[in-house]
Amino acid sequence: MQGFVADLLRHEGALVEAIEPEGLEVLAPPPVQQALGLGEMSRLGFGGTLPPGAQRMGLEGDWLGRFAQVLGPQGRWTRRVLSAPPRAPGDPEGVLGQELVLDNATFRLLGVSPAWTRYLMLDFRISAVSDDKRDLTLRLGVNLATGALPDAVLAALAPALDAPSLDAPGLGGEALDGGGTNPVLPDDAALPAPWDRARLLGLVARALPTRIESALAPFVKGLRRRFTRDADRLHAYHNDLHREAMRRALALPGDDVRRRREEQRAEAIGREYRAKLDDLTRQYATRVAVEWVQTLELVMPVHRFTVQVRRRKADRTIQLDWNPLARRLEAPRCEWSASAERPRLACDDALHLVVPAALGPCQNCGRPFCRACHPECCPKCGAGVPLASGIMG
Ligand SMILES: [Zn+2]
Ligand SMILES: [Zn+2]
Repeated sequence: MQGFVADLLRHEGALVEAIEPEGLEVLAPPPVQQALGLGEMSRLGFGGTLPPGAQRMGLEGDWLGRFAQVLGPQGRWTRRVLSAPPRAPGDPEGVLGQELVLDNATFRLLGVSPAWTRYLMLDFRISAVSDDKRDLTLRLGVNLATGALPDAVLAALAPALDAPSLDAPGLGGEALDGGGTNPVLPDDAALPAPWDRARLLGLVARALPTRIESALAPFVKGLRRRFTRDADRLHAYHNDLHREAMRRALALPGDDVRRRREEQRAEAIGREYRAKLDDLTRQYATRVAVEWVQTLELVMPVHRFTVQVRRRKADRTIQLDWNPLARRLEAPRCEWSASAERPRLACDDALHLVVPAALGPCQNCGRPFCRACHPECCPKCGAGVPLASGIMG
């Protein structure tokens, strides 16, 4: 925390000096004074014992919010160019056979050539709130040349990205607003065109839900377990009371006024049970909020595989990138759900590569159809197509 605050304040033009024990002496310019609520000269303390005259700074309170104000939109968008060793995949056919698994189509490698691509890596903050709370961050990356969402490849790149660019040999870093020329990007590098906003948002809307679901799966599993336990207890308690009231009622003659009273008691227990169960359901209902945090544009060289996919008499050519830093071929995304699941099937009409569920029968008429060909509704009966994922409508 002390290191972070010192770096941030220096970056914003403050004079910062470390003082003992675990503190900083700061001479801050007016904007920093305003955002942080500090005087021109101030002392900050971070440890158990504060330096004389210092105010305590920590994760508690609203300090993080004030730092966010100091940062403003800085860092929300960055661009980095990564260089990579000029190695090509050793056995392209083998690599392709491993990564591309098509259950109802054949494919053939037409060629491999060096190319450049840009990835957009979007970081999101996910907060799930119910009777418990879970915060996590999720990174979604898209290869703008092939449209792939190579989760595994980008995860493998993370260590290279986290390393400060100056200390990591072979990596060139450049902030977009920093300007200047970048030594590693050759003038003739052909980069894929940027996507327009609608196309990118459309893909994000499809790709996020399944990934959030799997990221939250352990949390949701815990919630379900506790909900089931609480619901079982609730049921057992009211069931006993109800049974007891009915037993007393049935032991009395039909015209006895006390019998009617016991029956009413049993009904009231039933009502109370249903109301408590509703409360419990509300208590465990989970609200998931997704907030975009930052985007990194990553430019780097790859090896581009051109692959012909064949099914029956139709064929289609697709491109897949092999990433030399991750040393891995990026699987195509499912053209319906955008999930990374395998295997894939090819549809009859357009040879869309999709997960098996995307070619499943219509929920209404039972006829199978391709959701990538018909994203809105079933071509036979017109019934609407539900979203690929359940938690976020
Ligand atoms: Zn239908
Ligand atoms: Zn299709």
